[in-house]
Amino acid sequence: MVELREQDESTMGLSFAGDVYNSAVYMKRCFPQLSVSMVTAIGRDRLSDKMLNRFKSESLETEFVFRHPSKVPGIYFIETDESGERRFTYWRNDSAARKLVDFLSAEVIEQLTVADTFFFSGIPLAIFEQGAHTKFWQSLERLKAAGVKVVFDPNYRAQLWTSKEEAIRQFDKALRLSDIALPGVEDLTVLYGIQSAQDAVGFCQQYELEEVVVKNGPHSVFTLVGNELLSHTITPVTKVVDTTSAGDAFNGVYLGARLSGRGIGESVQLAAKAAGTVIQHPGAIAPMAAFKQTMSEAGI
Ligand code: ADP
Repeated sequence: MVELREQDESTMGLSFAGDVYNSAVYMKRCFPQLSVSMVTAIGRDRLSDKMLNRFKSESLETEFVFRHPSKVPGIYFIETDESGERRFTYWRNDSAARKLVDFLSAEVIEQLTVADTFFFSGIPLAIFEQGAHTKFWQSLERLKAAGVKVVFDPNYRAQLWTSKEEAIRQFDKALRLSDIALPGVEDLTVLYGIQSAQDAVGFCQQYELEEVVVKNGPHSVFTLVGNELLSHTITPVTKVVDTTSAGDAFNGVYLGARLSGRGIGESVQLAAKAAGTVIQHPGAIAPMAAFKQTMSEAGI
């Protein structure tokens, strides 16, 4: 999406963000040897050109970034009030991304079968048009049958869904098709009444997941791999500036570390370090130099 941020009464800062994009950026910054492709739909307008250039400047592959002939990207505006509280206003009801499934032809899905991993979240599930889900699930089944690992983060955003029941229905399908789940406790609290990381792990156990990673803000991360349940300690950041995209940074770096052959404990610590760095900067995407500096201190 296009991100507009108020700078002063008459000036807006322009940026680009979105949960899966944020994860892709942080994965690629930490693990440049991995090939990371965006799968999305944008428009043919000037802002979409800028967005595509930004993807490229973050070294993301763009062959699966489709250009809709008449739609344009969604936009959100962030305001911060006197007490530092953030407010988001969205214009996304008619965005190009809602049309992504129209571009997922059998040929495109065949091309995607060469990937190791396909990562998606609950946000596309919420914004896809009525009727698009069936084709999306069929595409995912084809990827899975070809050996692509499917990874899902529910990232529940209540205002995007028509009802809780619909979100629960789609998440159930997503979790049934996934190999790895990366939920945050808060997302599951609203939908399923889950209050703790342990309960979140328990909830995930009804699905055939190879790997479950439950994020719980500064409190802890729980992982369940096979029968091994581990609790990982997080060092809380004292100077939190903006928690936007903490979970996204965590997902990108965790998956990048796992794909690069790192173990569970080390991958969680690298992911937590990345997330802890991102929340010390405003906006979803932390400045490249500061981010890389901190991650190099962590051995990346
Ligand atoms: P989401 O952004 O999806 O809601 P969380 O709030 O659980 O996810 O945060 C994701 C990750 O960010 C956590 O697992 C943790 O590693 C890191 N994190 C979040 N808040 C803090 C904090 N105050 N101090 C340090 N790390 C944090």
